[in-house]
Amino acid sequence: MTYTAGRHFLQIPGPSNVPDRVLRAMDLPTIDHRGPEFAELGLEVVDGMKKVFRTSADVVIYPASGTGAWEAALVNTLSPGDRVLMFETGQFATLWRGIASELGLEVEFVEGDWRRGVDPAEVEARLAADSGHSIKAVGVVHNETSTGSTSRIGEIRAAIDRAAHPALLLVDTISSLGSIDYRHDEWGVDVTVAGSQKGLMLPPGLSFNAISAKALAASKSATLPAAYWRWQPMLDANKSGYFPYTPATNLLYALREALRMLEEEGLDNVFARHRRHAEATRRAVRAWGLEILCQNPDEYSDVLTAILLPEGHDADRVRQIILERFDMSLGTGLGKVQGRVFRIGHLGDFNDLMLAGTLSGVEMGLGLAGVPFTPGGVSAALEYLADTP
Ligand SMILES: *Cc1c(COP(=O)(O)O)cnc(C)c1O
Repeated sequence: MTYTAGRHFLQIPGPSNVPDRVLRAMDLPTIDHRGPEFAELGLEVVDGMKKVFRTSADVVIYPASGTGAWEAALVNTLSPGDRVLMFETGQFATLWRGIASELGLEVEFVEGDWRRGVDPAEVEARLAADSGHSIKAVGVVHNETSTGSTSRIGEIRAAIDRAAHPALLLVDTISSLGSIDYRHDEWGVDVTVAGSQKGLMLPPGLSFNAISAKALAASKSATLPAAYWRWQPMLDANKSGYFPYTPATNLLYALREALRMLEEEGLDNVFARHRRHAEATRRAVRAWGLEILCQNPDEYSDVLTAILLPEGHDADRVRQIILERFDMSLGTGLGKVQGRVFRIGHLGDFNDLMLAGTLSGVEMGLGLAGVPFTPGGVSAALEYLADTP
């Protein structure tokens, strides 16, 4: 291995760049998680997460990747054989469906073309057709990280209400929380699932459930087998700032710092920053004459942009050239779109010149890979950034 000078550009849509402030905050002694000092940390991070979820309800923090919190949302609220309505927005929705099936749930999986979010009218129609209320939960991925489409959760809530259906609403915000506007209480979400390594600017290793009163009530009668993931022991211990088992103490230090940073910048400013970088990125893609995978402008993701290459051009080869020449990692195409798309992450701790560097690397890489494109995407993005404070 030889030394590579300068910062690696980690522009995959998660893990995102971990700010130095967060890295330094982790560099503290691991303390007694049953001692008095720990309780203060525990109380601060749970309370801070409630602000980010925009909820006054319960939040639990697991020492697990997002996948663990996916499973937790299901095993706490549902029983074997329960019907769950899910939507094929992309690879992550497909993986969550797979977990639900493995757990013994009956999933009605609405097929999709991976180029848009969940259609609220489809939710309404499916629920209206279920007059016997055999569907117990609706599972939606808010920001589909494999495609760059963001589903409109507020409108989906309204669709469930129009159908007057009692199903629980379970939402995956693993790549959106802390980067895209999200309102657990206002949108009447029952369980929101989140992770640490994307919008929250932390290393991988923590995940979250925000839990409505209705979801908590459902957990009293849910019979899917669960032990480690059970909410109640966690909620009981959290009341005094503790955890029922050993927490990821140093990641909680990181979380405390990231929450302070989000608070200092202001969540609405954080969301506006992401919106602006996403728009600049799309202007670059259009100027290049390439195609944005997401086809519905109302559902463009502020977290990442997936770019569809012309037939016959391998997106992974473009990524490999960019990694080797410019030390930048871009997101690979997942599942059905492998080799057809690459993804630019513009989430987390990110600013204008980081985006300028990212897009420059992409533009140079497209040329080196022999992809037919029109130069000038970087200029289009810079012009927008300069003109739009
Ligand atoms: C990353 C991601 C996951 C999986 O999270 P892990 O931390 O890898 O377990 C699930 N859903 C979405 C939308 C994601 O972006």
